[in-house]
Amino acid sequence: MTRITLVEGDITEQQVDAVVNAANSSLLGGGGVDGAIHRRGGPQILEECRRLRASHWGRGLPTGQAVATTAGQLPARWVVHTVGPVYREEEYDERAELLASCYRESLRVAAELGARTVAFPAVSAGVYGWPLEDAARIALATVVAAGPGPVGELAEVRFVLFGAAAYRTFEQVWQGIESEGREGQD
Ligand code: ADP
Repeated sequence: MTRITLVEGDITEQQVDAVVNAANSSLLGGGGVDGAIHRRGGPQILEECRRLRASHWGRGLPTGQAVATTAGQLPARWVVHTVGPVYREEEYDERAELLASCYRESLRVAAELGARTVAFPAVSAGVYGWPLEDAARIALATVVAAGPGPVGELAEVRFVLFGAAAYRTFEQVWQGIESEGREGQD
């Protein structure tokens, strides 16, 4: 069984096998989580991203997909880069599906590498504008649903929330999902 945990903190400080980056499709760096990961992880990560752009991902990484690189100097083995969708109410359904895909694909890539522990930020909930509570619901529900597959081999999926408000939001959404799960068993 995969343990799902929530912590308040900085994703670049997590001692896990794989940290997930809320990247953009250029893979060449940005703000928020992306900026922090490249700053703390050092130039090796960007070098590998450049190689990915020069080879398989010449047009950039499509939204909803994930790809791994070294974690450079971070206390992790790999960075799994995923590209979240920009929030747009008019295209909610397609984009929510893409956000769920970010979690599924990141978990698949991490599991393929042999990672046992994975840390996620709240993908799309920063510059990309996804309302936090809904981003939390999609993130947690998708990871729970992915549990029985190869993802079941993972020991821990950790959500790293930046700031107390984000942590509380995830915690509330998580409590709701857990109590629904319990009712479902009755
Ligand atoms: P996106 O472009 O996918 O919206 P951002 O990096 O802008 O990604 O933000 C995603 C979430 O990560 C936001 O909730 C933001 O507050 C949070 N965040 C920013 N920096 C960090 C960090 N160092 N560790 C963990 N979470 C972070």
